[in-house]
Amino acid sequence: MNSSRPLILAHGGAGSRQVTPAQSTCLADAIAAGYSILAQGGSALAAVESTIGLLEQSGLFNAGRGANRQLDGAQRMDAAIMEGAHLKAGAVASIEGIVHPISAARLVLEETNHVLLVGPFAGKFSRHFKLTRHRSTGPSRRFPYDRMLSKHTRSTRERHGTVGAVALDRSGTVAAGASTGGIESMLPGRVGDTPLIGCGVYADNQSGAVSMTGIGEGIIRLVIAKSICDRLAMGKSPAVAARQVLRMLVSRINGSAGALVLSPDGRFSIRHVTPYMAAGWWNGIGQPTVQGQFP
Ligand code: ASP
Repeated sequence: MNSSRPLILAHGGAGSRQVTPAQSTCLADAIAAGYSILAQGGSALAAVESTIGLLEQSGLFNAGRGANRQLDGAQRMDAAIMEGAHLKAGAVASIEGIVHPISAARLVLEETNHVLLVGPFAGKFSRHFKLTRHRSTGPSRRFPYDRMLSKHTRSTRERHGTVGAVALDRSGTVAAGASTGGIESMLPGRVGDTPLIGCGVYADNQSGAVSMTGIGEGIIRLVIAKSICDRLAMGKSPAVAARQVLRMLVSRINGSAGALVLSPDGRFSIRHVTPYMAAGWWNGIGQPTVQGQFP
């Protein structure tokens, strides 16, 4: 059997804000937890779910307990997970009332023949599997709809902290995942790139694994995760593939994003076209590395 050296990367969002010390510690702990699954021979899929689950649980990021609110005050979350051996994928969009959308996504992958469940039906599915509930106590806003429409178009503030991970396990399989509460000032029902396979997340043992963060509308329009994987499949390195696609995102549509890119031979790149990106990685040597910027 082919034996790869395990490796995991995780991110806590890309944007205009520097990572906080608490977020940095949490990322390092989540990376270490995911790595220990890989070191014991666990799957890349399990490591990605576990790492993202700890970040969702922390309340420090825009995912799970800390998810952003839409303009009506509700937390509606998106998540996806994919593995590269059989190209299996699962995702949930606009899900409410649970701590771990990433686990709901994995259950869609494992327990159904579908790829994406949305809204109240995704919530019903996760309650069926007894995923931990989260009672959101935020403001319920009763803005008239035209006020929400003008507020969403005028918004220039960026809120970050989407979480994601990519991993390579001992068997040589890669996996990718991401979980988010979306962006600032979203209309109710807005869905970003995160739960859309090929946009926010992609994994294929014949190319690599990618987890995106940034303004989802641009990432969707250029199908960024799959575009990066296509370049890996053509023989480009993770650094070159990420650079070319992120450059295109900026030059064609003035998009804003950061990417974790991992190839099945263990080469990787963390790249962003935002001022900051909170991310880190570990291959079991020394301590996990976490930084707020990647040149
Ligand atoms: N990509 C996420 C979205 O658009 C947000 C982010 O990554 O910060 O929903």
